[in-house]
Amino acid sequence: MTAADLSPDAYLPAAAESVVVIGAGISGLCLAYWLRKKNISVTVLEAGAEAGGTMKSSRSGEWLIETGPNSALDTTPLFGELFRELGLETDVLYASDVSTNRYIVRNGILHPLPTGAGAFLASPLWSWRGKLRLLGEPFIGRAAREESIAEFVERRLGREFLDYAINPFVAGVYAGNPSDLSVQEAFPKLYALEAKYGGILKGALLSARERRARKETAKNTARMLSFRDGMQTLPRSLAASLGSALRLGAGVEQVIPMRAGRRPVYTVTTKENGARSQREAGVVVYATPAAASARIVRPIDPAMAETLDSVYYPPVAEVFVGIPAGQIRKPLDGFGFLVPELENRKILGCIWSSSLFPGRAPAGHAALTSFVGGSRQPELAGRSDAELAELVLGELRDLLGLEGKPSIVSVIRWEKAIPQYRLGYRSVLRAMDRFEQNFQGSFFCSNARGGIAVGDCLMSAYAVAGRIETYLRAGLR
Ligand SMILES: Cc1cc2nc3c(=O)[nH]c(=O)nc-3n(C[C@H](O)[C@H](O)[C@H](O)COP(=O)(O)OP(=O)(O)OC[C@H]3O[C@@H](n4cnc5c(N)ncnc54)[C@H](O)[C@@H]3O)c2cc1C
Repeated sequence: MTAADLSPDAYLPAAAESVVVIGAGISGLCLAYWLRKKNISVTVLEAGAEAGGTMKSSRSGEWLIETGPNSALDTTPLFGELFRELGLETDVLYASDVSTNRYIVRNGILHPLPTGAGAFLASPLWSWRGKLRLLGEPFIGRAAREESIAEFVERRLGREFLDYAINPFVAGVYAGNPSDLSVQEAFPKLYALEAKYGGILKGALLSARERRARKETAKNTARMLSFRDGMQTLPRSLAASLGSALRLGAGVEQVIPMRAGRRPVYTVTTKENGARSQREAGVVVYATPAAASARIVRPIDPAMAETLDSVYYPPVAEVFVGIPAGQIRKPLDGFGFLVPELENRKILGCIWSSSLFPGRAPAGHAALTSFVGGSRQPELAGRSDAELAELVLGELRDLLGLEGKPSIVSVIRWEKAIPQYRLGYRSVLRAMDRFEQNFQGSFFCSNARGGIAVGDCLMSAYAVAGRIETYLRAGLR
C-alpha cells in the first residue's frame, strides 16, 4: 500500500492530539483554519446545513440580503492576512466614503452625528447644557464598583449624551440596552479609558498611541468592509479551505471525558444525518452559542450548563426592503440611522445597504436593512412576517419619506441573536475559565467571550488557537 491509497482519516493522529471544534460560525471556522496552519489535526462539527452561523448572505435576483452582520470593521490585521491567504483580496469591498455619515433620530427627524468640533457645537442632537456637560468629563473620578454602560456614561458625560448617542449606539451594536450591559465587559476599551488613564478624553488621546504600536485600529476609525457577494463570502471560503475536515449536518449532543487524569480524552457524540456517531478527541472547542454549549455540557457539569443558560440573547428581526430609489424622499447619503429609545419607535435603526456597498440592489434601486426587537422591544421581533414588514415600512415612510410599494421585502428572524454581556457577566467568564481548568483540553471560543463583533471573533479565535497549540505541545513533552 502506498501513501496515496490511504484515506485522509488514516493520517489522523492519536485521539489525544486531535481537536474537535463544535460549531462552524466565524469563530469556529477561523479557529480551525489557524489550527490547521499550525499542522494540528482538526474536525469541525456543524449542526446546520451550511457554514457561517449568523453570518449568512443570499441573493434574490440582483438584491443581496444579509441575514446577520452587514459589514465588519477592519480592526485587526488578521482580516488582511486571511484575505491574502484565502485569495479573497479582489472580493473585498470597503464601504463608500459616505459611510462615515451616520444619523440619529431626534423628535422624528434624522440629524447627522457630528464628526468635528464645529459640527458638534452646531448639532441639534444635544442642548447647550448637554454639550457643556462634556467639558467636566476630565475632572470626574473613577467608579468604585461595576457599572452599567448607562451609569458609566451618565456619570462621565451626562444624561443627554447617554440618551442621544450611547443608547442608540448600544442598540445598533448589541441590539441591547445600556442599563443592562456591563461597561467593563461590553465596552472594555471604553471602560479602560477611565480605569487606566483616568478619563475618556485623556484616555482616547493616550491609548491611540498604544493601539498604533499593536497595529490595531479603533472601532471608530476602522474601515468598514464586506464582500462582493456579502459577508458569508468569508465563512464560505474558510469552509472550502477546511475540505472534509468540516462536517455539516453534524449536531453534537454530548462530550464525555473518558480518560481520567490531567489530560482526558473526550468522546464526542454527534447526530449526523439521523445517525449517532462517536469520535474521540484530546481537545474539544465549544464554538457554539451559550445555550447550545449548555445542552452539550449539562451531563458532565450541570452548574456550568445553568450559567451558560443564563446568558441572555434577545430576539432580533432583520427586515430587508428593496425599493426604486425615486420612491424615497430623503437622500441616502450615509451608513443609515439609529433610533434612541426615547423616540418611542418600533425599529432600532436602519442600514442603507446600497449606499454602503455596490451590488446590493438593481440599478436605480435602494436596499434598506432595518432591525426590530432586541432587548428594547423583544416582543416585536416575534411578530408575523407581514406585521414586521408593515411595521418597518410605516417607520420608513415616516422617517425617510418612503412612498409607494417596495419591490421586495424579506424578513429574517433570530430567536437568540447576540449575547448580552450584562452586569455580573464576569461570573460567566469565570465559570468558563473554571470549566476549562476542570476539563483540561476544553476551550470556549465564540462571541460569548471576547467581544461580539466579527473582528473580535477573529482575534479571540486566533488567541484560542495559540492556547490550544501550547496545550498540545505541553502534552507531547
Ligand atoms: C442580526 C445580527 C446582526 C449583526 N451585525 C453585525 C455587524 O454588522 N458587524 C459585526 O461585526 N457583527 C455583527 N453581528 C455579530 C456577529 O455576526 C456575531 O457575533 C458572530 O458572527 C458570531 O459568530 P460565532 O461563530 O461566535 O457564533 P455563531 O455565528 O452563532 O455560530 C455558532 C455555530 O454553532 C452551530 N451549532 C450550534 N449548536 C451546535 C451543535 N450542538 N453542534 C454543532 N454545531 C452547533 C450553529 O449552527 C452555528 O453555525 C451581528 C449578529 C446578528 C445576529
